[in-house]
Amino acid sequence: MLKAEIHCHIEGAAQPRLVQRLARKYAVDLNDIIRDGRYIWSDFTTFLSCYDRASSVFREPEDYRLLTYDVFSRMADDGVIYGEVFSSPDHAAQMGISYTDLVEAMAAGIEDARQETGIEGRNIVTCVRHLGPEAAEGVADLVVSNPHPSVTGFGMGGDERAFDVEDFGSAFAIASDAGLGLTAHAGEFAGPDSVRNALDHLGISRVGHGVRAAEDPLLVERIVEEGIVLETCAGSNIALGVYPDFARHPLRNLYDAGVVVTLNSDDPPFFNTSIAREYEIAAKHFAFDDAALLQATQAAVEAAFVDEKTRTRLLKRLEKAEG
Ligand SMILES: [Zn+2]
Repeated sequence: MLKAEIHCHIEGAAQPRLVQRLARKYAVDLNDIIRDGRYIWSDFTTFLSCYDRASSVFREPEDYRLLTYDVFSRMADDGVIYGEVFSSPDHAAQMGISYTDLVEAMAAGIEDARQETGIEGRNIVTCVRHLGPEAAEGVADLVVSNPHPSVTGFGMGGDERAFDVEDFGSAFAIASDAGLGLTAHAGEFAGPDSVRNALDHLGISRVGHGVRAAEDPLLVERIVEEGIVLETCAGSNIALGVYPDFARHPLRNLYDAGVVVTLNSDDPPFFNTSIAREYEIAAKHFAFDDAALLQATQAAVEAAFVDEKTRTRLLKRLEKAEG
């Protein structure tokens, strides 16, 4: 089954083994958050601190090249032909890595994986919502004034309950004017209003998660009509308690209502998942047959922030696989 992945955070995709290797390089003790090759956390607070501590070992551009290479190679092993990852210049800056160094290191990692496996990859640079609108504009300015062919999208992560979403409109306008694709996290920890406001004010074509739109039938109708694509991450939602179990998760209802859904891994090793497992989850818990799974891959390629030539080539590969 050919797959595509368009919602995956680069540090969140770091395998514990790689993190431990870098922890040794920098003489950092992470034995309290990594045990038997797995991340240890028990609730949202300990998840965040585990995530931050694991991310803190990426301190040099070479660490990001290696991480990005590892992430895209694994995706390719799982059958992914196209992947997008989220990066955060705010986080890299905290580690003393400049924006251009970050972008070039990640592009080198994607290219190394592409040469070995044929996978195509792009970078979506994200602002952090809880750092506020001014910081978000700063990130958008940084992206636009340092264009790089691997950076094709602008997004927003962080706490979707922080600040008013309309205040981020100018950051998204800067990115949009430069021709970048736009996505934002909404409808994960906050309800349908969060999704509606993001659609009203950010000009996004995709929503990160967006699953809680299911609580509002009128919003679901709008999402279908406007062709908005949801980057769903069911394994992540269950791991973080957005829903108590897969039976209560609305993925199937959204799909049946005609919403364009894609399947994604978010922060895979933190949630004991992978893109391969997300496709298995869709098959097992949401009754996606092979045609529906392939449709999700196709939707991701069609919604990808990628040049038309590459998109056409990827879609042809899918058509061939289908035939
Ligand atoms: Zn996410």
